[in-house]
Amino acid sequence: MEKTKKSKKRLKTAKELSSIVGEYYAECLQAKNEGKPVGWMPPMNGAIEIFYAMDLQPVFPENWSPVCAAFGLSPRNFEVAENMGYSRDLCGYLRNIIGYVNGPMKEGDKTLGGLPEPDILLTPGGGCNPVMKIFHALERRFPDAAVLRSDCPQVAVEDIEKAHIDYAMYEMKNLIQFLEETTNRKMDYDRLKEVVSLSDKACELWDKIMSYRKYKPSPISAAEIGIMFVMVTRQGTQIAVDFLTRVLEEVNERAERGVGVIEDEKIRLFWDNIPLWYNLGIFNYFEKMNGVVVAETYSAAWSLRLNTEKPIEALAIKSLQSYPLVSCVSIQKRMEMVLNACRDYYIDGVILHRNKSCAPITLGQMDIQAALLKELDIPSVIIDADHMDERNFSPSQFQTRADAFMEMLYEKKGYIL
Ligand code: SF4
Repeated sequence: MEKTKKSKKRLKTAKELSSIVGEYYAECLQAKNEGKPVGWMPPMNGAIEIFYAMDLQPVFPENWSPVCAAFGLSPRNFEVAENMGYSRDLCGYLRNIIGYVNGPMKEGDKTLGGLPEPDILLTPGGGCNPVMKIFHALERRFPDAAVLRSDCPQVAVEDIEKAHIDYAMYEMKNLIQFLEETTNRKMDYDRLKEVVSLSDKACELWDKIMSYRKYKPSPISAAEIGIMFVMVTRQGTQIAVDFLTRVLEEVNERAERGVGVIEDEKIRLFWDNIPLWYNLGIFNYFEKMNGVVVAETYSAAWSLRLNTEKPIEALAIKSLQSYPLVSCVSIQKRMEMVLNACRDYYIDGVILHRNKSCAPITLGQMDIQAALLKELDIPSVIIDADHMDERNFSPSQFQTRADAFMEMLYEKKGYIL
């Protein structure tokens, strides 16, 4: 097995993704060339809708990292970051983007045209500490950019109270005021309602697409997870709604005809933690033994709804919830989410990706492993790897563990090997 491998896609619509990715990055560059203000920000918060409503250009350095991994740029980025003194133990997204802006970007790398320099830097949501630190480092790299530091609290999803929402609403209004002053553009609140409505529609479509993974056989697997690109970069636009509508139609049609990812689905798997962006082909690995990864932790980030009648409140709640739904929940809540997903998707076995460079999502996996066995009699296997840094992934160790795990699941279900 190679260290880096692309996934095998079965959905025709998922194959459209490369043009959607290319068009988005071309749009970012074009915006810069035409003088439209470009803002860099973390994903999964309410700033994206505010940007699209004000006709500003949002860019997500965190999302650029999987692109770098897919295009083989990450090793060079890590080298630059490490030479600057950033430890290999830090989050791979952080090391990748810091290496990129201080290395290939300065050297004129033109992968997908490259990223346009930011006019604005924002930290508007309640993400993890590395996410905030990325932006502290970016402030030093782009000293001319206007900076807004919001201190939206990191609250475990189940502990969010009215006071947190009120504070996050204050921060959203503060963001709008900052953007109006910085860019000389006025927020059109009717347009904001439209954008929030499109955002909500995308979440609804997302949930519907995910729900088809409960079908046996599942018409869609984690190998198609790249479709989340539109949730990260295009939420609040017709582009996301149109694309997800096409995905839903195709998934629905496959489910109705009983067409699965593979012909003879025998083992249904859950992937905990972030995928290996440099090797999405790992999701296909289990197919040789009739295993399909039908659900994963990451997709929960967009399983929420937005009240279109109260757009500012909706974006405040999204900013408090979306990122934390994946990375900042309590261990108890994470355990509950994984166990519920295993019940809902009829999971036979769980792959716990022990992610060397993401402590927030890796924390608690031993407890989750014990609870899966005790409460649901679902076995799991730990795979040591890293969502960005292929140096922390050993294909032979993965193969040994994955094969033994699949054999054990076969036996448990009474199949003959
Ligand atoms: S949640 Fe994990 S992967 Fe995401 S930025 Fe934080 S440490 Fe990095």
